[in-house]
Amino acid sequence: MRNESLTPEAVSDSLIGCTPTVSPATARHADGTLVDRYGRHVTYLRLSITDRCDFRCGYCMAEEMTFLPRAQVLTLEECLRIARVFVDLGVTKVRVTGGEPLVRQNAVWLLEQLGRLPGLDELVITTNGSQLDRFAPALRAAGLRRINLSLDTLRADRFREITRVGDLGKVLRGLDAAQAAGFQRLKINTVMMRGSNDDELIDLVEFVLDRGIDIAFIEEMPLGDTGHARQASYFSSEEALAGLRKRFVLLPSAESTGGPARYWRIPGSSTRVGFISPHSHNFCDTCNRVRITARGELYPCLGNNQSIQLLPLLRAHPTDDVPLRLAIVDGMGIKARGHDFSGQMAAPQVLRFMSMTGG
Ligand code: SAM
Ligand code: SF4
Repeated sequence: MRNESLTPEAVSDSLIGCTPTVSPATARHADGTLVDRYGRHVTYLRLSITDRCDFRCGYCMAEEMTFLPRAQVLTLEECLRIARVFVDLGVTKVRVTGGEPLVRQNAVWLLEQLGRLPGLDELVITTNGSQLDRFAPALRAAGLRRINLSLDTLRADRFREITRVGDLGKVLRGLDAAQAAGFQRLKINTVMMRGSNDDELIDLVEFVLDRGIDIAFIEEMPLGDTGHARQASYFSSEEALAGLRKRFVLLPSAESTGGPARYWRIPGSSTRVGFISPHSHNFCDTCNRVRITARGELYPCLGNNQSIQLLPLLRAHPTDDVPLRLAIVDGMGIKARGHDFSGQMAAPQVLRFMSMTGG
């Protein structure tokens, strides 16, 4: 499948000489906000700071991965520059992700800098937790508000199977460290997989109830060729909800964390149980986010191959943000109306792994 990565020149010839002849797309953004062709305001950036990871989760990566050479990866200064321009264009929430963001050297420095950006209301991270026991206090000091921790099972042997290399004990120590450091709004992300962890969903909810934290169950998406039959492992939110309702009273909640999850509350607890259901409950109509990959591509839609390369622009104009700003604004013009993952489980059309795009 072709990856339709667009050079900035292809988006708008006026971008590169940097005489900002305002294109129709930019005119709409004169007020300094990002709006796509369907009127959706983009206020949320997911920034991948590395394609590397210390785990090899079966739904996310192939067993043998080739990672990017360092020169093709955004430097942390470049990550900060991109984020600053997005915030200047009205983005109020940044999620730092990867790959595993905390295996990137000096990731905490970047988080500290991001935490100081005026106009950024929410700085959050998604992590596999393997480094949290070391970094939790520093993350807290950097101004991080929330941590999403990926955890698909509570059984050590199964954890090793799913991640291929991970150590459950270390991740749980990381979770303890995060709670001890004062992170209250922790959320566990669990990818549901038939025949793998579908018998553990109740245990996982008991686990988050005990800790007073939240959980979001995620339907597996067909991103990248991981070499396993996704159709066979797909487990729907509906089936999960029906199973959980046999044990818990779940009351639908109108709350939102600004993301695609739909939440349920368990009476008498502060825990929220969420479902991210890209197959059974398409959330594209209210999508407010775009993604930047570790190599500086702007992907306005996770389920679509169109992107804009920002890295050449950044490096061609090291001290002038105008071309970058214009490219980002014009990038809103290629944000797809929506994705359709359901027809792609057997033959994925998005060949990028989730670890490359940034989950
Ligand atoms: N390494 C970090 C982690 O695991 O939390 C951050 C990056 S990871 C790509 C972000 C999230 O994407 C994780 O919660 C992971 O479970 C999820 N993910 C990865 N591949 C997925 C897929 N094919 N379908 C659904 N979720 C996926
Ligand atoms: Fe690594 Fe996260 Fe992908 Fe697992 S889901 S392989 S931890 S990037």
